[in-house]
Amino acid sequence: MNASDLRINNIDSSFADLVQERSGENVRRCYYCQKCTVGCPTAYVMDYKPAQVLKLIQLGQKDILLGSTAIWLCVGCETCGTRCPNEIRLAPVIDTLKYMALEEGYPVPEAAVYALHRSFLDSIKLWGRVHEATMLAEYTLRSPRAILPDWRLGMQLILKGKISFMPERIKRLGEVEALYKRAGS
Ligand code: SF4
Ligand code: SF4
Repeated sequence: MNASDLRINNIDSSFADLVQERSGENVRRCYYCQKCTVGCPTAYVMDYKPAQVLKLIQLGQKDILLGSTAIWLCVGCETCGTRCPNEIRLAPVIDTLKYMALEEGYPVPEAAVYALHRSFLDSIKLWGRVHEATMLAEYTLRSPRAILPDWRLGMQLILKGKISFMPERIKRLGEVEALYKRAGS
């Protein structure tokens, strides 16, 4: 899809400035070469591809982006940033869009992805590291449509000592809690 094929709604003229300020990335330097899209491992399932996300930011398309699946299907792998000739990193840009969507109450179109994201963060907040068993239990409770974990495989991993059944808190959990406090999470 060319940039000219994108459908444009109401323009929010301050949107690009705000995203730039919060993400620390110069979104206006994008000239739509699409190298980010070509390298992105999840672009094939996104409604708007990484280069289109940049173009829509430049065009002030806040409503389209904050309600898009693209912002929830980015896995933050940073491939786009390493390929971009203008050194634009999509990962912090998309994280910024996720936070804006949550702050402004946009519905999350990928509920299972958000449930996993939240369960992962809650696990680190509680134990200082991920504890797989309790994280997956929370994920299952949070997401009625979650892909159920394979408990038989999980039991095998526990029996072989690859993952622990009982969670353990790290010694300096206070430092992790301070990070969460600073992030307002
Ligand atoms: S690689 Fe960089 S310049 Fe090219 S489309 Fe992606 S963000 Fe824009
Ligand atoms: S950081 Fe996100 S947008 Fe960039 S390549 Fe990885 S998954 Fe795609």
